[in-house]
This record gives sequence, C-alpha cells and structure tokens, in this order.
Amino acid sequence: MNKGKLFVVSAPSGCGKGTILSEVLKKNKNLFYSVSATTRTPRDGEIDGVNYYFLSKEEFKMEIDNGGMIEYAQYCDNFYGTPKEKVIEKLEQGIDVILEIETNGAMQVKRAMPEAVLIFILPPSVFELRRRLNKRGTEEQDVIDKRVKEAEDEILKAHNYDYIIMNDELDKAIEDFEAILKASKLTNENNKNMIEEVLKNA
Ligand code: 5GP
Repeated sequence: MNKGKLFVVSAPSGCGKGTILSEVLKKNKNLFYSVSATTRTPRDGEIDGVNYYFLSKEEFKMEIDNGGMIEYAQYCDNFYGTPKEKVIEKLEQGIDVILEIETNGAMQVKRAMPEAVLIFILPPSVFELRRRLNKRGTEEQDVIDKRVKEAEDEILKAHNYDYIIMNDELDKAIEDFEAILKASKLTNENNKNMIEEVLKNA
C-alpha cells in the first residue's frame, strides 16, 4: 500500500484559505486535516481540539522538547506548531494529510519531508487583502497592520512552493486545489507499485 501524501498549504491570513480548505475537506472525506497547536488566545467561536489545541507557552515548549512537533514557528508574537503523532499515523495508514501552516513551518516540513507537496494561496492583491481583514473585523487595527506586513513577507516566499493558487474567484480556487490533489496522486513516484502490478499480470 502507498503511504499517504502530505499537503502543506500556506496563505497570508485573509486570503480565503479557510473557506477553500473547508470546501475541499467537505468534498474529499478521505483527507485528514491536522489540527495545530498554538499559544494564541481563541477567537470567538473557536473550539479547543477543533480549530487548534490552545496551549500555554510552557505546554508548547514542553511539546517541542519532547520531540512532539513536526515543525513550529513564531508568528505575530505567538507560537504555532504541528503535532507529530497523528500526522505520521495517518500517512502510514495511506491517508493524505493537510497541514495549514505559515511559510517558515512549511520550509521546515519541506526540508524534513521533501516529498511533501507545498501549495500557496495568493490574494488578488495586498490592497484586497487589507480590505478583507478590515471587513472580517476580528482584529484591532494595529494587529491588521502587522498581519498585512507579515502577509507581504510571506507572499515573497511563495516562490519556494510547488503550486500557486490565486483566490480571486472562490469556485475556481477550489477547483484548482482539487486538481493539485489529483495530479499529485498520479505522479510516477506515487505509482511505482501499480507499474509492477500491471507487469505481473501478464
Ligand atoms: P491564525 O492566528 O490566523 O489562526 O493563524 C496565523 C498563521 O499561523 C496562519 O498563517 C496559519 O496558517 C499559521 N499556522 C497555523 N497553524 C500552524 C502550525 O501548526 N504551524 C505553523 N508553522 N503555522 C501555523
């Protein structure tokens, strides 16, 4: 049996990444979405264990020290990281896994697991990104300013990703995402066993 594929998705906040991913996950029930750990405080409506595992700084540090994270990074004064155990378990079971993480973490994953597929979602423009963040209204102005600056830095790192999706039209972005999932499963590397099987049944 083939191992599952690891997909790493990054996008500056406000790019519609959450909406795209929830649609893709709804349509592809066999994908496992990895819930991250974070030290930031929950936003309204966010549930521990569903949106994130909300940890104290001490708990987070302990996870790192115990080797429990695949990657971690500091982002806007908080720590975010991917708990290792579930991800490895699912991949071993042949289940594809999605990590929704920022760019520093994504680069760590690519170094540790070069076979991971990295996808970057772009906003139509930085201007539009700021407009969306203002409209969402979940952050104060100074936090928004910080996030826009962070977004510009992150967009520069999109060059290091395998695939780029522009989210100027939601349906098209979802379609593009699913095309990447499908194509990634059809690579030669992923189907070595199939070639052998075909030859065996002569
Ligand atoms: P937010 O606070 O808006 O939920 O997330 C802020 C940023 O942290 C987003 O870019 C999000 O993708 C990223 N992030 C979420 N979970 C992880 C993680 O486990 N590791 C890393 N490196 N970044 C994460």
